[in-house]
Order: sequence, then C-alpha cells, then structure tokens
Amino acid sequence: MTALELDHVQASYGSLAPTLRDVSLTVADGEVVAVLGPNGAGKTTMLRAVSGLLAGERGRVTHGDLRFAGRSIRGLDPGMIVRRGIVQVLEGRQVFRHLTVEQNLLAGGHTAGSLRSARAAAREMFELFPALAALRRSKADNLSGGEQQLLAVARALMARPRLLILDEPSLGLAPIRAREIFALVARVNRERGVTILLVEQNARAALALADRAYVLEAGTVVLAGTPAELRADPRVSAAYLGVA
Ligand code: ATP
Repeated sequence: MTALELDHVQASYGSLAPTLRDVSLTVADGEVVAVLGPNGAGKTTMLRAVSGLLAGERGRVTHGDLRFAGRSIRGLDPGMIVRRGIVQVLEGRQVFRHLTVEQNLLAGGHTAGSLRSARAAAREMFELFPALAALRRSKADNLSGGEQQLLAVARALMARPRLLILDEPSLGLAPIRAREIFALVARVNRERGVTILLVEQNARAALALADRAYVLEAGTVVLAGTPAELRADPRVSAAYLGVA
C-alpha cells in the first residue's frame, strides 16, 4: 500500500520562483526510498513540504497534493503531521545539547501520552541501541557526531512513526560512523517496520540501502527507479557515483 504520495507538488519560498516544480513521488509501506541530487536541487524543501516545516521558512506548497495513508496532509502544521505518523530527523543532528541522552529521548516522547509511556519507549530505545544505554546520563554535547546522530534517530523513533524522514544522516560523519548510521537505518526499517524516506549526498550508500530512489535536479524529478536501474544509467554514474 502507498504510505506517502506527492502528487504534482509545487512549492515556493516567499515570492521567489518555485523551488519545487511538478514533483510526484511515492513511498510504499515498508519501503526505503532515497532522494539524490546536487546541492540546491530542492531536496530539503521537499522533506519540509512533507513534514509541514515549510511555513516556518516562509515557504508554502502552491500546487498539488501530499497524501499520507490516503489522506491529504497539505497545509497541516508539523505537530499534526507527527500525530499522523510522520517524523523527521532534521539535517545536522538537532539534539538538545545541554540535556542528557535520556532527557533527549523523553523530550521526543511527548506524543506518547504520559511520562510512563515515554519512559517505556525510552527503555525500548536503550534495548534497541545498547550504545545509547551506556550513555544515558551523558550530556548530548559530550557525544561524538555519530552518537548524536544515533540519538537523533532514537529520539525520532520515540514518537513511534510509521514514516521516518532523514535529511542527510551521514553529513559530517567519518566513513565508519556513516556506515553505522546506514546499518541502523536498515535495522529500523527491517526490525520495526518503519518506512523510510531519506535524502543523502552519499549516492553509493543511499543506493545500497534503498529499495527505490529518485533524482531531483533544479526542483524536478529527473529520474526514478530501483538502485540497479539508477546505477546502470550513465547520468547517475557520471554525476553521482564518480564513474566517468
Ligand atoms: P542542499 O543539499 O544544499 O541542502 P537541497 O537539495 O536540500 O540542497 P534546498 O535546501 O531545498 O536544496 O534548497 C533549494 C533552493 O531553495 C535553493 O536555491 C535554496 O537557496 C532555496 N531555499 C532553501 N531554503 C530557503 C529559505 N528558507 N528561504 C528561501 N530560499 C530557500
């Protein structure tokens, strides 16, 4: 079944020319879908359109529709969208730096209903990610980049999303830490059945992880397909995989 559907979406910031033009994309339940594209292509804008974060940037969807589980989410505020089951991990590991790991998780669990259910969800996260359990009383500020990204993902999972959106999860991480984050994303998809939509500069890693991918250039989808199809496309190999 289709989880997320973007149907001919156009989006603009203020009175500027549209940043997204006629973007159509689907993510099926249980899928991992990657969005590739150069800087400035509109990838972050597309994620913001889904999670309701455009308005905060003076942007808006001007045409088209966005649907999740068959219902329109266009124009909903970010809190409503979280309650519908979509949670986004923002670019740059936005953890609360002065709070402990455990406090960060509890802050992400505010939709859980009660402190008791938030605590239960935090315990689940510590079981899922033992590396975080060892750090539960450390301030997020003292965590490495990779650990902070792990915390950002765990905090997002506290809201029990059906769709997890990740914006550049490997940005700024050493290659080995980036690999750990990709492995973690694969686990979250496989073991918890969470559908994933991710934007990623590392095209090779993204194609290794994804079931399908889209290429966005200048605000428009220029290619879409399975990783095998995209790897075989000379435009992808030249522009994104560093193959001449
Ligand atoms: P990157 O990989 O550099 O983050 P991206 O593909 O995610 O690129 P966006 O960040 O969505 O691209 O930006 C697409 C275009 O929209 C760019 O031209 C950018 O300058 C513009 N833009 C992004 N955010 C805003 C904003 N808040 N206000 C005005 N213009 C914006």
